[in-house]
Amino acid sequence: MSFVIPVAPPASVPVHGAEGASFAVHRIYCVGRNYVEHAVEMGFSGREPPFFFMKPADAVLPVREGTIGEMHYPSLTRDLHHEVELVVALGQGGRDIAAKDALAHVWGYAVGLDMTRRDLQGEMKKQGRPWCIGKGFEESAPIGELRPAAQCRIDAGTEIRLDVNGQSRQTSRIGKLIWSIPEIIEHLSTAWTLAPGDLIYTGTPEGVAAVVRGDTLSASVAGVGSLQLRII
Ligand code: MN
Repeated sequence: MSFVIPVAPPASVPVHGAEGASFAVHRIYCVGRNYVEHAVEMGFSGREPPFFFMKPADAVLPVREGTIGEMHYPSLTRDLHHEVELVVALGQGGRDIAAKDALAHVWGYAVGLDMTRRDLQGEMKKQGRPWCIGKGFEESAPIGELRPAAQCRIDAGTEIRLDVNGQSRQTSRIGKLIWSIPEIIEHLSTAWTLAPGDLIYTGTPEGVAAVVRGDTLSASVAGVGSLQLRII
């Protein structure tokens, strides 16, 4: 087959411990309001079911462990927020995947940031319009190295955290997810046909706040990985 324009290489995420090996990204799904305290800080009761939105695959900004990535402060916003999240990477797709079978579809995990132009998202919410301009922009999905699931030990007590310039901003436990990882995959696969290469940003705990140029973010999920990022 030939193409009338140059074909872009797939967006990808480096794999931990595998020099040169990368995970090709198919889609990026995100879960909204999946921690009670974050839903509350955003003005909701915290008791509604979570929901989904998407980012384009090429919104990933991969950062190797031991390096500091750089994210350009995006256009149009004066309120760029951090949201630290556990990211699930699928190695197998499907439809109507039962929660009990869901973990067999997981290839691995990473720590990620769902960077958000909060002022634009807020304006779109107010007008009942799509969030894309607030959520789905270039470099809006920084992500650390992916670790194969067998090398990760994730349980209810697993800590997720984000520091900015060495100060703690977000700290929680994976057990506080409203929808667990298997439940997310079950719900998501009723709405979309999941595929190998899909990433799922599973939602952020409370403590979201603004960053400015010059800030250094340090995100981690214990036993999964870490990510350092400077805003430039
Ligand atoms: Mn989020």
